[in-house]
Amino acid sequence: MTAADPTGFTFQPIGYLQTPFADKFGIPRQPTLAPHATGVLKLLPPYDRAEAVRGLEAFSHVWLTFVFHQTAGQWSPTVRPPRLGGNQRIGVFACRSPFRPNPLGLSLVQLRSISTDEGVVLTFSGVDLVDGTPILDIKPYIPYVESQPDARSGFVSGEPARLQVVFSELAEQQCQRYQTRYPELRALIVDVLTQDPRPAYADDPARRYGVRLYTLDVKWRCDGQSAFVESLDSL
Ligand code: SAM
Repeated sequence: MTAADPTGFTFQPIGYLQTPFADKFGIPRQPTLAPHATGVLKLLPPYDRAEAVRGLEAFSHVWLTFVFHQTAGQWSPTVRPPRLGGNQRIGVFACRSPFRPNPLGLSLVQLRSISTDEGVVLTFSGVDLVDGTPILDIKPYIPYVESQPDARSGFVSGEPARLQVVFSELAEQQCQRYQTRYPELRALIVDVLTQDPRPAYADDPARRYGVRLYTLDVKWRCDGQSAFVESLDSL
C-alpha cells in the first residue's frame, strides 16, 4: 500500500484472535458482556516485537480493530437488528452489524496480560469475536475522551432483560469434569446464555439449542425467562 493512494488499501492482520467461540451463534452482541470470554492474541512477525507493545501494560482496556471475516462480502444498506425484534430495518451505518460494506469491526476489551517471553502474546477479557478472527490493530482506550456517559444511543439504549441460567445435574457434573481444562467454563456459559442468544423471532420452549464453546456443544432450552443447560457434548 502506498501512502498516496486514497482509493484502495490492503491491510495485513497483526494476528488471529483465539477465543472460546467456535462459531457465531451464542457470541454476545457486544464486547464486555461476557467477562469470562477470554481472547488470546499472538502477534505475527514482523509485529511480534516487545517494543511494539511497550507502555501498553499501563492501560486497562484496548480497542481491537478486526475483520468480520465470516461475513465479508455480504452487505445491504439496511439491516434488522436483533434488539428491534428482528423485523424493523435500519441503516447499516446506524448499527454495529457484521454485514458492512467494509467488514471492519471495533471491540473494546479488557487487557489482562502481555507476555513478551516468546514473541508477544496478549490476553483479553470480554471478547465478542469468533475464534480465528483477524486482528488489524490494537489501540489503548482513553476514558477522558472516549467515555461519554450522557451520549444518546438510539435503539440500543438500556440493557436488554437477562435470562436466569439453570444447570441440570448432568451439566453441573460435566462442568466439574472440564474444570481443569477450562477453569472459567461454567461462568462463561452463564455469561453467554444470560444474554439470550436466541434469534429474535424464535420463542419455542421445546426447541433445543447448541452453543459451541471451546470443544464443547452446550445444549440448552429456553422458556423465555430461564435458560436450562441440559448437557455439554464433545464436538
Ligand atoms: N463490537 C464489534 C463492533 O461493534 O464492531 C462487534 C459487534 S457485532 C454485533 C458482534 C457479533 O459479530 C457477534 O455476536 C457475532 O455474531 C459476530 N461476529 C463475531 N466475530 C465475527 C467474525 N469474525 N466474522 C463475522 N461475524 C462475527
